[in-house]
Amino acid sequence: MHYRALPHARLALAQGTSFPPEYAWAMDVTLQSGDALVIVDVQRDFVGGSLPVPNAEQVVPTLEHYASCFRSKGLPVFATRDWHPADHVSFREQGGIWPVHCVAGTPGAEFAQGLSMGSDATVVSKGTSRDAEAYSAFDGTDLDATLRRAGIRRLFVGGLATDYCVLATVRDALEKGYRVFLLADAIRAADIKPGDGAFAVRTMLRLGAELLHGQEVDPRLQAHG
Ligand SMILES: [Zn+2]
Repeated sequence: MHYRALPHARLALAQGTSFPPEYAWAMDVTLQSGDALVIVDVQRDFVGGSLPVPNAEQVVPTLEHYASCFRSKGLPVFATRDWHPADHVSFREQGGIWPVHCVAGTPGAEFAQGLSMGSDATVVSKGTSRDAEAYSAFDGTDLDATLRRAGIRRLFVGGLATDYCVLATVRDALEKGYRVFLLADAIRAADIKPGDGAFAVRTMLRLGAELLHGQEVDPRLQAHG
């Protein structure tokens, strides 16, 4: 495999009040071959749609910025999506806990406005069979095999919702041996029970994820792309 030197990306850890202060330290991360961006479920139904995640629209420009950074370095971008049949087991009508959302092929299942997936992003559909819930992007998909084939070892994860699909995806990624950076300013929680999101972040960090703050991405990344 051909490795090439990649420009330095400076990312600092979150110091925002919404995250546990004990995790607010700083470090540098250099984007390199073997890194991939994973955008979890940034779909219309979750962004002001039938199952809205509070403030979800705020992650769109942040993730766009990340995606352009990764693309400019030739690093892969993966975008996961709920892609449910109309009678999916997770829907209330079927005894599940969620309103109907992200039915395959409907406008609500499309990626959120402003999120340009580009022709080079790899789309990962999950929750595609009627009888199985799939919060994790690794659940019932070939994501793991695809990442391994591409030599990916570190995942930079953002998206929706922190306390459901982001949590499940990060947990599985860590279990599978990937190093995981959680993009603190590119996630939003459903917070159905207040505090669910903060608890999910603590859980991911306890399991070994590392918290990064995207606003600290070095602008040189773009300028020297
Ligand atoms: Zn779903």
